[in-house]
Amino acid sequence: MTNEPLTLSCIDCAAKACKKGEAEKYPAFCLTKNMDPALLQEALDCYKEEENSRVMINAANVESDFYGKMTRVEETVEFAKRIGAKKIGIATCLGLLEESKIFAKLLRKKGFEVFGICCKAGAVPKVDIGIDAKCENSGKTMCNPILQAKMLNQEQTDLNVAIGLCVGHDSLFYKYSDALVTTLVAKDRVTGHNPCAILYNMHHYYRGLMEDNEQK
Ligand code: SF4
Repeated sequence: MTNEPLTLSCIDCAAKACKKGEAEKYPAFCLTKNMDPALLQEALDCYKEEENSRVMINAANVESDFYGKMTRVEETVEFAKRIGAKKIGIATCLGLLEESKIFAKLLRKKGFEVFGICCKAGAVPKVDIGIDAKCENSGKTMCNPILQAKMLNQEQTDLNVAIGLCVGHDSLFYKYSDALVTTLVAKDRVTGHNPCAILYNMHHYYRGLMEDNEQK
């Protein structure tokens, strides 16, 4: 198996020239340089939709007004305020319920109505949906991200916040949520919820991950 990429894209770029629109520095494979104008326009047209425009303008303003000053928790509260959200849904991992309670307390203090549902709500055994019984080593009850989304949909939340949903479960939550979702916590049980810690150490302590291993 070769590690050579077949198609070059932004993940192979050292120029990052699109940041300032410096056309003379674009690499040959640059996605900006080789962009299908129709696709670009299709995306731009989407920002004309009311919700998309509201999100983009307010997200940009939060970034601009508090760049490097506000934490993600504060930015989330500020963003929710600026898009006019009144009721916030929290889809939380059971393991992060204490953190979610603290966040909910903050939201309530800031005047939001809050409704939260943890991943194990419904208490359905994993085996009931065909998950192998060996997976019960991490608990018998399944996480239920679709139920989390459906309950928050029923509650008619204006904005949902994902706190520590498992990889893949988060995908289904995003898929089924009616309201926009922002992620406050990306769960990583090993790093204290900081996935970048591994990426920063990939050439040192985690270099083994980069090596071919046919047994994997
Ligand atoms: S758009 Fe072009 S310049 Fe920007 S990161 Fe991608 S390849 Fe690099």
